[in-house]
Amino acid sequence: MGGGLAGLSSAVALAEAGFRVRLLEKRPHLGGRATSYALPDGEHVDNCQHVTLGCCTNLEDFYRRVGASHKIRTYRRLYFTDPQGHRGVIEASPLPPPFHLAPSFARFPLLSGADKRAIARAMLKIVRCGGLPADVDGNGGGITMLEWLERHGQTKAAVERFWGVVLVSALDEELGRTDARYGVDVFWKAFLANRTGFELGLPAVPLGELYDGSREAIERRGGEVSLRAGVRLIRVAEGSVAGLQLESGEQVTADFYLAAVPHDALLELLPGEIAEREPAFANLRRLRTSPITGVHLWFDREVMSEPYLTVLDCTTQWIFNKSLLYSPSAGAVGASRAAEAGQYLQSVISASYGLVARSRQEIIELCRRELEGILPATREARLVKATVIKETAATFSPEPGCDQWRPRQTSPIKGLFLAGDWTATGWPATMEGAVRSGYLAAEAILAVARTPRRLLQPDLPVQRVSCWLAKNSRSAHSKQAEDSVVASRAGGCGSSEPTEQGSSAGSGGNCGVGTQK
Ligand SMILES: Cc1cc2nc3c(=O)[nH]c(=O)nc-3n(C[C@H](O)[C@H](O)[C@H](O)COP(=O)(O)OP(=O)(O)OC[C@H]3O[C@@H](n4cnc5c(N)ncnc54)[C@H](O)[C@@H]3O)c2cc1C
Repeated sequence: MGGGLAGLSSAVALAEAGFRVRLLEKRPHLGGRATSYALPDGEHVDNCQHVTLGCCTNLEDFYRRVGASHKIRTYRRLYFTDPQGHRGVIEASPLPPPFHLAPSFARFPLLSGADKRAIARAMLKIVRCGGLPADVDGNGGGITMLEWLERHGQTKAAVERFWGVVLVSALDEELGRTDARYGVDVFWKAFLANRTGFELGLPAVPLGELYDGSREAIERRGGEVSLRAGVRLIRVAEGSVAGLQLESGEQVTADFYLAAVPHDALLELLPGEIAEREPAFANLRRLRTSPITGVHLWFDREVMSEPYLTVLDCTTQWIFNKSLLYSPSAGAVGASRAAEAGQYLQSVISASYGLVARSRQEIIELCRRELEGILPATREARLVKATVIKETAATFSPEPGCDQWRPRQTSPIKGLFLAGDWTATGWPATMEGAVRSGYLAAEAILAVARTPRRLLQPDLPVQRVSCWLAKNSRSAHSKQAEDSVVASRAGGCGSSEPTEQGSSAGSGGNCGVGTQK
């Protein structure tokens, strides 16, 4: 049930393992939240721009399995801008991680020396505990990322122009509502443990075109993908799934059932009494959600040369140059653009609580005003058309303590398995989290079917110097960190695979520090 990344990744993995899979998707297209569709005027748009990072190893594996890897382009420079249009770039130097980004960071013009020193101290703290600081726990639960940054003496500008800029978009939540564990983990995995963790992956095609291979992979092995096939009810008898009732009235039975729908949708499908009684389901009501707003703007001329920009001190957080990203010559700034006239940009605002109640026209005008400083060419350009897509419940909020409400991929109902970015993966609500959940659910089914198979991919290896720094400090004072790794592995988030020796050049392999929670 559900043709988002969780449903697709589990379905493809199970089909490859010899199962005959029937995938039931309510909508007329695959991809769930990470998809694209046609607007009433015929324009094809992504539900919202989606970004992946080099550290998303399971998503990468999934794209490879379904032949979509070549539709994702890798970008190795991060472009930043302030409201006045001053630019800064972060990119890797030949230095080994965790210092590979340090030279460009030292030159970065949009932060002061005091900001950079504070950030560097906090980064070193993250490295020295292998991404698992002991001081992220407060009284009776985790502390927020903002509290953690305050404890570590971050300047106001460092919080607003650096930590917030990266984390609000990565985790779709404000720093004051984000569990510090998630925030620290992003920096460890993406920026400190491995050289390629920070690299951006951006689709060179509309998102919906990434899933053709998934459908083929299922159908080639005798399976079936049913669109417009919404499930109305999961029928339960004597603690086991007895079958599904579809919205069309059709009854469906199977050996195993996997629900990969959003968590609130699952509660609607279960018999009410079970949804209330079983903590694994009842606790889902405690997961809060946060919004993301995408603003799509079509200009009559070229107004931007970079493929994307991360924006400081504005409501707009990212601007994506969709014309360039889709062009065959994308990849380098200044590369010749698609021959078409005009330019299509998309702005993204995560944790966009302040925009939910505002009208679409107000949001378009706000973005337009901000763009005039960032991209001066927009002042003269004509805005041909614009649209706003508000996802008011885009992802679950990674607030302190949320992990206790995320169920494992097995369920209290016999025959029913769960997948979705909201299940226990140790990852925030991302495409990577969704694929991890799909693989973990498929592993659970394969185990019950007595054909166990490992599908979950290891994290990128922790490279030599990061490893050495983490280990050295651990032997001094991190018994606590070790305990927390053991506890979280035992807690069964499922992503307990230790890092493995990597094959990438310069890899120092597994240093044994916990990189998964
Ligand atoms: C605006 C926005 C921007 C985002 N940006 C990023 C990003 O840049 N990077 C990133 O990694 N992640 C991003 N995410 C998060 C990412 O999209 C999700 O984490 C991921 O796609 C979730 O996949 P899923 O399969 O768990 O759930 P979904 O994608 O929600 O899939 C669930 C599927 O179940 C179907 N369904 C629901 N009810 C039924 C039913 N009764 N019967 C049958 N089918 C049903 C739905 O139609 C849907 O297709 C973003 C999300 C949003 C909303």
